[in-house]
Amino acid sequence: MTHVLDGNAVGDRIRGELADCIDELAAEGVTPGLATVLMSDDPASETYVSMKARACEEVGIEGIHHEVDPDAPAEELFETVDRLNDDPAVHGILVQMPVPDHVDKRRVLRSIDPGKDVDGFHPENVGRLVAGHPRFKPCTPHGVQLLLEAADVDTEGKDAVVVGRSDIVGKPMANLLIQKGPGGNATTTICHSRTDDLGAKTREADVVIAAAGYPELIDGSMIGEGAVVIDVGVNRVEADTEKGYELVGDVEFESAKEKASVITPVPGGVGPMTITMLLYNTVKAAALREGVAVSLPGEGRPVEP
Ligand code: NDP
Repeated sequence: MTHVLDGNAVGDRIRGELADCIDELAAEGVTPGLATVLMSDDPASETYVSMKARACEEVGIEGIHHEVDPDAPAEELFETVDRLNDDPAVHGILVQMPVPDHVDKRRVLRSIDPGKDVDGFHPENVGRLVAGHPRFKPCTPHGVQLLLEAADVDTEGKDAVVVGRSDIVGKPMANLLIQKGPGGNATTTICHSRTDDLGAKTREADVVIAAAGYPELIDGSMIGEGAVVIDVGVNRVEADTEKGYELVGDVEFESAKEKASVITPVPGGVGPMTITMLLYNTVKAAALREGVAVSLPGEGRPVEP
């Protein structure tokens, strides 16, 4: 029997545990605050930001939203980030990507106070992750890690293949899998668009994590018997639906399910975990900044201030 992992159920459970942490913070007079900054009029970015705001409200995080005109000079965005860095009510800052072309994206990542960088993309936080003592794990790979834990998948000693080497998913995912300790200790291969014979790599893997952004790239013939398959991909493909499209993953679900022992669907797999882990990082940021020890889900020990 293949276990189809329900990301909504796991995400809801973790959000419930985070709400308990938020109660513990409230008892110390602390309300975690997450500032979102949008410099775009792209409807998808607007939707993402409003989903994040709604999720904050549901668990008791104060959402603070700022918009910067996409045609404004880049300095306007940096001044907004500076103000938020200095604002004691703000524990986490998220600048919704992509930013307009005239804004230096790397400078945006560097401009956020690393202690408020709940995306985990500031070079200091990337370095800490690589060095094995992460402060904020990037949300999507961290969500995958907790999904694996929820499915009782022990990665220790397993062969893992990550398909994709982006800074937001593939690389941090592989970095988490190679760390010493629970959720890590996997022998990890990273594949990308220049990989020769992708199927030969994925077929040998105990755990396949697909993050290529290529619809149904990996089918059942590329999956080994009994493998764990986590599909991060979210791809719009034309379909005869009311909206004219449907969402599919990077994995061809039906054929892969025939081989896999555990598999995530799209939608309803990794997606709900990403926002959950943003909430997680915001709670962690508040606990660290305010010096309140809370017991974060999956962390195994209270966060020491
Ligand atoms: P990027 O486009 O930044 O990176 C894609 C990576 O996949 C690149 O490293 C690329 O290789 C590799 N790749 C592309 N095509 C192939 C191929 N045919 N074979 C092997 N490797 C390939 O995407 P992201 O990492 O940002 O996102 C990946 C997917 O995950 C997307 O579908 C995105 O929508 C989804 N996503 C989902 C989230 C969620 O919450 N569920 C959150 C974030 C992303 P190369 O480096 O050589 O170009």
